[in-house]
Amino acid sequence: MDEIRRIAVVGGGAAGMMAAAVAARNGADVTLFERNEGRLGKKLRITGKGRCNLTNACTTVEFMEAVPRNARFLYAALARFSPDDTQTHFEALGVPLKVERGRRVFPVSDKAADVVAALAADLRQAGVHIVYRRVTEICTEDGAVCGVRTADGTYRFDAVILCTGGVSYPTTGSDGDGHRFARALGHSVTPLLPSLVPIVADDSVCRRLQGLSLKNVALRMIAAESGKTVYDDFGEMMFTHFGLTGPMILSASAHIRDIAPGKYSAVIDLKPALDAKALDARLLADFAKYANRDFLNAMDDLLPQKLIPVIIERSGIDPRKKVNLITREERLALGALLKGFAIPLRGFRPIDEAIITSGGISLKEVDPGSMQSKRIAGLYFAGELLDLDAYTGGYNLQIAFSTAVLAGEHAAWGA
Ligand SMILES: Cc1cc2nc3c(=O)[nH]c(=O)nc-3n(C[C@H](O)[C@H](O)[C@H](O)COP(=O)(O)OP(=O)(O)OC[C@H]3O[C@@H](n4cnc5c(N)ncnc54)[C@H](O)[C@@H]3O)c2cc1C
Repeated sequence: MDEIRRIAVVGGGAAGMMAAAVAARNGADVTLFERNEGRLGKKLRITGKGRCNLTNACTTVEFMEAVPRNARFLYAALARFSPDDTQTHFEALGVPLKVERGRRVFPVSDKAADVVAALAADLRQAGVHIVYRRVTEICTEDGAVCGVRTADGTYRFDAVILCTGGVSYPTTGSDGDGHRFARALGHSVTPLLPSLVPIVADDSVCRRLQGLSLKNVALRMIAAESGKTVYDDFGEMMFTHFGLTGPMILSASAHIRDIAPGKYSAVIDLKPALDAKALDARLLADFAKYANRDFLNAMDDLLPQKLIPVIIERSGIDPRKKVNLITREERLALGALLKGFAIPLRGFRPIDEAIITSGGISLKEVDPGSMQSKRIAGLYFAGELLDLDAYTGGYNLQIAFSTAVLAGEHAAWGA
């Protein structure tokens, strides 16, 4: 009879919990190491604002379009464990799901903690041993994995699945240990950069508008040199003391990775439902309604209070001018400003504030069919520590689950 394979999974996040259960169900004796004492899935608990957008109900082709780099590496992983499979899996684990706007899939309970609890219960049922210790080294002999080291000593294993995550939100426990282990074993790690991250803006205007949330506005990210729109979206964004954040901004950040001071501007259409002509008619109507008011006091119906002094300043129109004296040219320029409120951008906030780490273990050194290292036999990878990242919408957790299923199975089979 074949000997039972002993497998260590390092990291009890989305990928690690999935990989451990899968490996155990495939006949391995699995130990999961998590450095957060008594707490699995710390990052998973805060996903989707505590609601966990665990996948996207899309086709494989659509999925690939949401992965800006290295999407082809994911073919085998998605073929083995697709977004459909994720939904079936979690429903079977007792987490009813619902699909929201943009095909984002959430638990019906709106509780990320339910997703963590289901994965943890599955681990227990599959017979996975859980050890709350930080792994400090992966041990090898003759180019093959032979164990892991913790502060307590060395444990022997036939295979190790590294699922230590990226380097963003490091207080969740993911601070790059896996990258360090892999480097020490001869793997290359591509530059770690923030993605899905708030953006620092050059404009003192952001400080004045801090706390203002804009809903139902249109956003374009424009490259200063070419004037080309590199990203456009419709939805919600927020001003902060440093610049811009909110769902549209985070998504936009994934499309402007080469950001540098002055290279891009965020251009906001504050009235996307009205074209230039309709907006001018609206301004005329408002100005007729408030004919005897100063310009400063005639914008209340059109804009949030906080925005009014900023727009007035940018318009160059005297705030004390009576609106019935505003010229057609001034009004048309005001309309253009409302449809193209531009904010020059400087750069990204630091990587620890990013939703996702872009960059990681070089995929050239990982077999896409098994997630096994091409350098060290018995070493497998899954999740965010790989050089893979996607846009918002549940794709990043799906990447963690799909790569974890492949890694768990192949580590258990020894193939
Ligand atoms: C605020 C926020 C919201 C998000 N929302 C979503 C969302 O709604 N949908 C989505 O698809 N994605 C979302 N993401 C991204 C998603 O959380 C990650 O893609 C996913 O968690 C990656 O899973 P992982 O298992 O690879 O890494 P992680 O979940 O980061 O898990 C890694 C684990 O490894 C442990 N670890 C690290 N080093 C060691 C060590 N040396 N020894 C032992 N244990 C170790 C860590 O403590 C951690 O528990 C969000 C991210 C953030 C920060």
